[in-house]
Amino acid sequence: MNLSPMLFRVLVRSLMLLVCGSAFGWSEPHQSITKAALKALPESDRAALGAEWELLGEDFCLIPDHVFTDRKNAKYAMMDSRPGETYLTVLHLPSTPPEYQEVLSYFIEKAAGALREGRVGEAARFTGTICHLIEDYGSPSHTVPGDNMFTLQQQFLPPPAHMKHKLLHGLIESGTVDVSIEGYQARVLGTSVGEAAWRLTHRIHEAIVNARGTTFPIIQALYQGDSEAVTRSQKVAAKVDAEVVADAIHTIIALGMNRFSSGAFEVPKRIGIASFFPLEAPSLYYPQKMFFGAPYWGHPSHGYVLENGEREVPLKLFISENERVMERVFREGLGTGGRSTLTYQLPVGVFRKFEVFVGLHSELGANGAGEFLILLDGKKTASVQLKGGEPAVRLECDLEGAAQLQLVTSGQGANLKSNYTIWAEPTLSK
Ligand SMILES: [Zn+2]
Repeated sequence: MNLSPMLFRVLVRSLMLLVCGSAFGWSEPHQSITKAALKALPESDRAALGAEWELLGEDFCLIPDHVFTDRKNAKYAMMDSRPGETYLTVLHLPSTPPEYQEVLSYFIEKAAGALREGRVGEAARFTGTICHLIEDYGSPSHTVPGDNMFTLQQQFLPPPAHMKHKLLHGLIESGTVDVSIEGYQARVLGTSVGEAAWRLTHRIHEAIVNARGTTFPIIQALYQGDSEAVTRSQKVAAKVDAEVVADAIHTIIALGMNRFSSGAFEVPKRIGIASFFPLEAPSLYYPQKMFFGAPYWGHPSHGYVLENGEREVPLKLFISENERVMERVFREGLGTGGRSTLTYQLPVGVFRKFEVFVGLHSELGANGAGEFLILLDGKKTASVQLKGGEPAVRLECDLEGAAQLQLVTSGQGANLKSNYTIWAEPTLSK
């Protein structure tokens, strides 16, 4: 049969829905998570959404799942750039970070824009769609790219006989999850839509990685029929989801009401990016092609270097200050070894400057050497070659509207085992 790709997608989707009811992400927990987030937000946020506030947790956070039955709200989960696509898979399952960042930008703009113009009901509905996306991405049933139905994971974790033919997806995500984030202080993630979407993307990454730690324990608990253990792990995922949802709602309201002046809404002017996943790790882990062979067999690390690939050692550089050279420990930074390229998408026009300290590790890199190169939109912007024992160099560049930042390292020391290259405190500033 010759199916058009579009028809094929529609068919696959319908089949998925038939197979396991709510095939995509949390079902009932959507409401618990959204309600937990709403509960943690300040009274001023509640006032901004008025009567729609309760409906956000009760109803609107489910809009993307109900597009075929709740026809009048379906448009709040659709995009102008994708006319006719009623069910947007990207609202449930992560694709590539640039794509879902674009989707977040679109819906944040829609929600904040509606709020700005006093269309509170529409603002709340678009916000519901964003809540849904965050919750689904951070759901334990969506954590393994490409194995949404767990057929691969069942090979790694063979089920007991009584579960042999059970589909796990629905079991992993459903149940009653009583979640609370009482005391959580929601953050405003940006003073513009672009900045907010960019930082929200990275917050969502934290939730996805957190949820990954719960998936196997949930499967094992299901096999053992231990429903309490299932719920306990689901809660671990749901809690971080609720925190990110709280940040998102809080940010949309700040953008829509233009509330950035008071201290509580302050957005930092400088942001470290060492903990962000580069585009080379699209599914938030380093694929094998990102590994380097020297000074050890490994991949870029955040916050430490690995001595011989085994022992965590703090990031340390020689720093020259007032004509004196001293050793400084950096908590934030990247150990990039002998060869690596790290690419970061930037929110265009939000930050003015990028700065970073580069050098060889003051102890482990004594006999190494390396080149450090910064590219903006593919153009060489700053570079330096350094040897072990030399003080670190502070590289700085004006971003001038660049959309992409790349940090490229190549180790060049005669002693490859000593090429412990470090990018310390990579920071964007306004
Ligand atoms: Zn969903």
